[in-house]
Amino acid sequence: SIVDELSEIRDEKHEETRLKDEERRAKKKSIEETKKSLPVYKYKQDIIDAIKKYQILIFVGETGSGKTTQLPQYLYEAGLCNNFDNDDTTTYKKIAITQPRRVAATSVATRVAEEMGFKLGNEVGYTIRFDDKSSEKTLIKYVTDGMLLREFLIDPEMKSYSAIIIDEAHERTISTDILLGLLKDIVKINKDLKVIISSATVNSKKFSDFFGNVPIFNVPGRRYPVDIFYTEQPESNYLFASVTTIFQIHLSQDTPGDILVFLTGQEEIEAIEEILKDTCAKLGNKIKPLIIAPIYSNLPIELQTKIFEPTPQGSRKVVLATNIAETSITIDGIKYVIDPGFVKEKVFNPTTGMESLVVVPCSQASAQQRAGRAGRVGPGKCFRLYTKWSFKNELPKQPTPEILRSNLSGIILMLLSLGIYDILNFEFLDKPSNDLLIKSLELLYALGAMNEAGELTKLGKVMSEFPLDPMFSKVLITGNRKNCLSEILSIVSMLTESGSLFYVPKNNKEMAQKAKENFNNRYKDHGDHFMYLEVWNQWVDNGYSYQWCKDNFIQHKTLNRIRNVRNQLERLCGKNELFIQESSNSSLNRKPSDDDDDNDDSFKKLILNVKISIASGFFPNTSKLTKSGTSYRNLKKQQEVFIHPSSSLFKKKPPVKLLIYNELVLTTKEYMRNVLVIDDERILKDYASHYFNEEALNEIENANSSKRNNKMNP
Ligand code: ADP
Ligand code: MG
Repeated sequence: SIVDELSEIRDEKHEETRLKDEERRAKKKSIEETKKSLPVYKYKQDIIDAIKKYQILIFVGETGSGKTTQLPQYLYEAGLCNNFDNDDTTTYKKIAITQPRRVAATSVATRVAEEMGFKLGNEVGYTIRFDDKSSEKTLIKYVTDGMLLREFLIDPEMKSYSAIIIDEAHERTISTDILLGLLKDIVKINKDLKVIISSATVNSKKFSDFFGNVPIFNVPGRRYPVDIFYTEQPESNYLFASVTTIFQIHLSQDTPGDILVFLTGQEEIEAIEEILKDTCAKLGNKIKPLIIAPIYSNLPIELQTKIFEPTPQGSRKVVLATNIAETSITIDGIKYVIDPGFVKEKVFNPTTGMESLVVVPCSQASAQQRAGRAGRVGPGKCFRLYTKWSFKNELPKQPTPEILRSNLSGIILMLLSLGIYDILNFEFLDKPSNDLLIKSLELLYALGAMNEAGELTKLGKVMSEFPLDPMFSKVLITGNRKNCLSEILSIVSMLTESGSLFYVPKNNKEMAQKAKENFNNRYKDHGDHFMYLEVWNQWVDNGYSYQWCKDNFIQHKTLNRIRNVRNQLERLCGKNELFIQESSNSSLNRKPSDDDDDNDDSFKKLILNVKISIASGFFPNTSKLTKSGTSYRNLKKQQEVFIHPSSSLFKKKPPVKLLIYNELVLTTKEYMRNVLVIDDERILKDYASHYFNEEALNEIENANSSKRNNKMNP
């Protein structure tokens, strides 16, 4: 009967709920057990007492001991967020935990929300550039160090926080270093603010000294022995050697026991991922299953969880990671570490004022830290793909703090807008050379962000509102003046993620290449910036379609991220009264047919304005073709540079005479990535000519006039 059926359904429902409850209870229990098993747990009360007693505390503990996930929870439980006002009403103050890496902030916030049984974005949240999962309710906030720095602009005394935990301080990113300098000052004014500096390694003394000999709380870690193996001979190709080592481990060692490989970036990780997948497919079920899990900063959040999933019995997990897995993220179950001994770093040359990304040997401290990752669950093994001699003689002892090897104009702009004008006397943990500081100040001056007296200009103030390099902020502002903000917003957003936009399947290289070339049709050879604009416009015209991405060998996920970035930048533009003009709204300026474009004045004007806008920020990167016909020379800094093979202008015949690049990547040579053609004097006239001397200005003029001559006699 119906009644029976209904009661049956009800029983089923009951059973379902019961099972779900049980699952939840089991999960909760296992979370509880994990929490209790962490080294920090034994010291919970001592930690709380110490924090209540001291305003500033250095906290040291081995990676995986529970610093990042547990400390904020202890403070929260101890009532640190509750703030009793005079009239006895409770208000709440937040706890901030900084992370140098975006991916660490999101993954740890997700974990802690789960541990505490909250929905991510409510009580526990995160804020990273272009992605904010926090709300009014948020009391524990994981935040990248750069984003917390930006909060000083709104809340200079950090009044909305009861505690700030500077986590991973040993990483010594620029933002972390500046935060430490600012906090040292603010704790004197805001006596209610607790500051905890958390660090994985032995550098704690330096932090303690910096703050005036403050106490160090040390949580003893537990660690199993790790056997270290070196290669007999130097490896000529560490990617190849990594793959070989992975399979040697997989075939010769017993499971369980996962492998962690340290690589320098997304490209390497993707390359190895593909080789591993291919090889596994060929070997089929001759080998035990190998689960491949990549992790790097730009990896979409939904794919990050794979590294934490328990490895099924009988199979083995290979985690392909950047140095994010050195200390920021702990993956359980790792028994084997493969360390090729390299890291990708930004290097700034103060003499030339040029910054580039370089793969360099990692430090001995990093290598020790990497090896340690193999000894968390039991005795482990670390395979160093370099010789023992090389470890001793070629690896530096400690990494160089980022602040000593970067262009500091972004940070200085930020300090200026906080009213800190005496940059040369700012309290740095390690003071950058005057040379470097002056080079960065010069750039700000050239961009118009600073006046001759060293003060922030109105333009500089607006520039500081954007979480972008000052050169990019300037491009947006000029884009607005030149009525092409919409196009500029698209291009700037595309540039933030351009590295992972196109994908080239191994078995379909030609088609992918063709698809990419097609994006150059409309803006015939004006350069990569216009290629990106075309990709964006077509995607929009196709309704943000996934299929369109697939057909064109473009990563849909990357475009989605770009869309998000663009929305946020557009909102910030609105806030700063830079508005997208009706007349420049994208589709108006796009012509259905390619053939008439050259005759269309408004189309030409648009191209010119876009170029002027880009040049207004990136003029220091103007480079001219040398007599050799293959290399370029920076007009100001005289350095020899080459077009990156991924550029749409790489094989252009005849080669472009004058161009502006976005960034330099040093591999075998200094390569310019993302290149724009400068084919008209007017591009550099209004916003950049003050920067060049007469000789360089002549060169600019020559390059463009001979181009016009070429056109006249083909
Ligand atoms: P520390 O900051 O001292 O290096 P963490 O607080 O990051 O340590 O990590 C403590 C433990 O929490 C790790 O050993 C791991 O077991 C667990 N953990 C952290 N993040 C996650 C996650 N996203 N998923 C599952 N477990 C995690
Ligand atoms: Mg940590």
